Amino acid sequence: MCLDSTKCPLCDGFAQAELSYPNWVVPCGKCGHFLIDDSAFRLLPEKDLKEPDFPGHGKPFDNPFWGSRYLLSAMARECYEKAKDERQEWLVVEAGEAHGNTTVRERVKGIQNGDQGNLARLIAEAQMKAPKTEDDKKIGVLSLLHRHYIACGSSVFEIDCNKDYPLFFLKGPEFLTSAVRFLVDDGYVRVKSETMDGTMMLEITSDGCQFCERALRPADSKRDWVLAPLNNLGGAVGIVARDRLEKLERIREDNEHVDFLIRMCSEINSCFLQGHLLATLLVMRALLNYVPPIFGCKSFSSVAAQSPVSLKEQFETLEEGLRKVADYQTHRTMKPGDCYPSRAQVEPYKPAFELLIDEVIRTLRGTATGAQQR
Ligand SMILES: [Zn+2]
Repeated sequence: MCLDSTKCPLCDGFAQAELSYPNWVVPCGKCGHFLIDDSAFRLLPEKDLKEPDFPGHGKPFDNPFWGSRYLLSAMARECYEKAKDERQEWLVVEAGEAHGNTTVRERVKGIQNGDQGNLARLIAEAQMKAPKTEDDKKIGVLSLLHRHYIACGSSVFEIDCNKDYPLFFLKGPEFLTSAVRFLVDDGYVRVKSETMDGTMMLEITSDGCQFCERALRPADSKRDWVLAPLNNLGGAVGIVARDRLEKLERIREDNEHVDFLIRMCSEINSCFLQGHLLATLLVMRALLNYVPPIFGCKSFSSVAAQSPVSLKEQFETLEEGLRKVADYQTHRTMKPGDCYPSRAQVEPYKPAFELLIDEVIRTLRGTATGAQQR
């Protein structure tokens, strides 16, 4: 329980923390500068939120925050990059209880219930932003180089792998180096120089720029250059927002039948992100055909017909609009002057599509708990 004020409580790196009542100010090279209350300062380094194993008890207790410190470190760095010297904007990490005489287990319980501090919220937010797949990790790094290029006109960017991994919500420097290696293999990035201590001068190639330009809408590439990796933009870029996918993932824990549905949603997002709009439309239409049994119906038009008035109109938009656009694109035959669909053919259906996904989630949850729907 002893507090080491020379060690960053989020990444264990060297950081000379100073008490500035009621919080500690931690100037960390990796996490940026942030504030933390005494309680969180004591709690977090505690075996990374994991209670020590006792003899006879093989497993650690079921702790949803175990191993989550790196996520807080990423959140702190993100705030710091936005705010720099404006201290009032730095992240404040709180576990809310001053003494810390209670066990780690009890305190984690309090945090989990949301009645202590902001840890639960911060970790949940960071989990949404953190890359889930190897591709996400690569895109995170590449999109930062691209943003830098757009903002400064320079295709060269220096990263310090040992310090900059929190910028990409990664667990450690090795994940950043491997993402860079993969990008080099893809031909999207060149390493211009590299030192033994992990500093690299990276250059985004024209292929890399083209990839980002295809994947990002113009509005998004104007965002602050250093912020969210591409996947953090969640619903702003894809069709099915990341939090909806997360909800479906949680349903999958008890109900693996949703596997295919999740794959469809991910495929819709990835097609849309890469500008494959024909495929986006077709998989969206396929989803309309796929979900009716969830609502006890045979066709999507019956789903629309039996929905409450407020939803009915939205679902009819999908049936009458989205389906027709997708049909048109599937059944057309070659003519001079054929045009590839633009995003404008998909975007009008995003709100109704989201409402449908919400309704699917709501109904699946009802089914999972055995409650009768409708
Ligand atoms: Zn740190």
